[in-house]
Amino acid sequence: METCFNHTEAAKAGTCKYCGKDYCSECLFLQGQLDSLMCKNCYKVYKTKYTSSIKRRYIYAFAGIAITIMLALLYITHDHSSLSLIGAAIGSCGVAINFIRIRQMKMALKTKPYISAEEKNL
Ligand SMILES: [Zn+2]
Ligand SMILES: [Zn+2]
Repeated sequence: METCFNHTEAAKAGTCKYCGKDYCSECLFLQGQLDSLMCKNCYKVYKTKYTSSIKRRYIYAFAGIAITIMLALLYITHDHSSLSLIGAAIGSCGVAINFIRIRQMKMALKTKPYISAEEKNL
């Protein structure tokens, strides 16, 4: 009988997509929008990586907002130069990209419990 990598007494329910090891249904869950099979160990690594990445993206996004506002104000109050306007446009695109990435990473961290085919038939 194939068994779980963590529990030698538990039968294998599936294979983690990320580390390729076999696990029981308790050690696995469905991750992200694609319902990828992921083990608890990989999730921990993944979560640490993404959490720091999300934080960094938030800093970029808010810095981008500040720059965009500054350039827009500069355009309105002072120079009326197209350079400030272009800068503000680029800044707002950067902000949007960072928020899209944050959303994607948050979706990727969503999990659902995994129920193997055998368990469904019980
Ligand atoms: Zn894994
Ligand atoms: Zn297990």
